[in-house]
Amino acid sequence: MLATEQATFTFIATSDISAKAKGRAVASSDFSADTSVGWVPANLGIGPLGYIVDGIPFCSEGDLRLQADSASQYHIAGLPGRAPFSVCFADTVMPDGTAWSSCARSLLKETLQLAKDRYGLTFSCSFEHEFVEKNSALNTHPFSFENFLQGEPLGSTIFSVLSAAGVEPECWLPEYAPHQYELTLKPTDPVSAADRAILLREVVKESFKAAGREVTFSPVAVPDGGGTGVHVHYGIYGEGGEIVAFDPERPGRQSELAARFNAGVVKYAPEMTALFAPLLVSYQRLRPNNWSVAKAFCGLQNREALVRICPTNEIGGRKPDRQYHFEFRGGDVGANPWTLVTAILRAGLAGLEENLDPVKVYEGGTGPEIAAEAVSLPGSLKEALARFEESAVVRSWFSEEWVQTFLAIKRNEIESLSSLTLKEQCEAYANLY
Ligand code: GLU
Ligand code: MG
Repeated sequence: MLATEQATFTFIATSDISAKAKGRAVASSDFSADTSVGWVPANLGIGPLGYIVDGIPFCSEGDLRLQADSASQYHIAGLPGRAPFSVCFADTVMPDGTAWSSCARSLLKETLQLAKDRYGLTFSCSFEHEFVEKNSALNTHPFSFENFLQGEPLGSTIFSVLSAAGVEPECWLPEYAPHQYELTLKPTDPVSAADRAILLREVVKESFKAAGREVTFSPVAVPDGGGTGVHVHYGIYGEGGEIVAFDPERPGRQSELAARFNAGVVKYAPEMTALFAPLLVSYQRLRPNNWSVAKAFCGLQNREALVRICPTNEIGGRKPDRQYHFEFRGGDVGANPWTLVTAILRAGLAGLEENLDPVKVYEGGTGPEIAAEAVSLPGSLKEALARFEESAVVRSWFSEEWVQTFLAIKRNEIESLSSLTLKEQCEAYANLY
């Protein structure tokens, strides 16, 4: 629908340290493969509350550029009341075009290159987003057809706009929590998967706004209201797409290589929790019996696993080997999608580098064993930041400037919001995300 309608603007887009989509627009008629626009290092220090925090290693000096990656362009048409526009994702570079050491998108690309060069590995990736309609007085019932219909015509709008743009939505569903929906995307390469996650959030929010309705992706929209997660699915393959993660003879049908990779993800989870659960209210979601994650373990048929071995569809003799993949369930909307994928992959690669023992696979119904054996994640943002700050390994995945900026932003957020009641914190984040 309208996919070829002419756009006035091409928005050169990035996503910042707090997962806010940002950038600058140029005339689409001027856009070419080498388009770049100016950017400012201190922009990295803007937290979710919308100002540059104190104590960051950047000041008013310096210049950067957002270098459009012309292969990552999406044309968005069909949003009610909105002109069609194009979005092109960008890497943040120095004025001479060399990589900027704190660019989240470039770090993900470097991580993928490292995985290929050192281990001959490639990855598939897709994001699964949940979100909640705010202030709805309508009936709500988990997974109901009634809720699906109440989501119309927005579900149809969102799905068709994203499909026409090439974002490849897969499934749209009414979820469990009150007025909660979920939208999943088809697997692609990790950089495109994260780009699409950034775009999806904006298209969903705008579609609801255009209809006078509002949604939030915040991990807990209201206290005790059920969690809202961003789950990242990842498949591990050889350089030429060979099957390397599937082994029907081993626990969870997980190859030794995949089990060492996932051992790294589980090992480093407590030290990288601040990265995947970076909001104060993230810790209201990461609790036991919440169908999210409270402990770091790899699970089969268990939806409280940090790393869940996803079921395969073998109906009609379909083969499981290529479908076989994993779901990282800890993330939420506060995490920059490029950074979130980088952290998962770096942790997995550390598992290979350190030659960790294959991760133990807990099968559904092994609650007492998990409670006794699995490591807990930090219980608050403050604790998670301390674990991150102390972790030489996790810090080494980022530039020192990025680490200092992240810590300053998050500590400012704690200082600014911790005097609020939980209800007020939930409201604040539901407005920010
Ligand atoms: N809403 C749950 C979360 O906070 C996930 C439910 C599910 O999709 O399994 O992550
Ligand atoms: Mg879900």
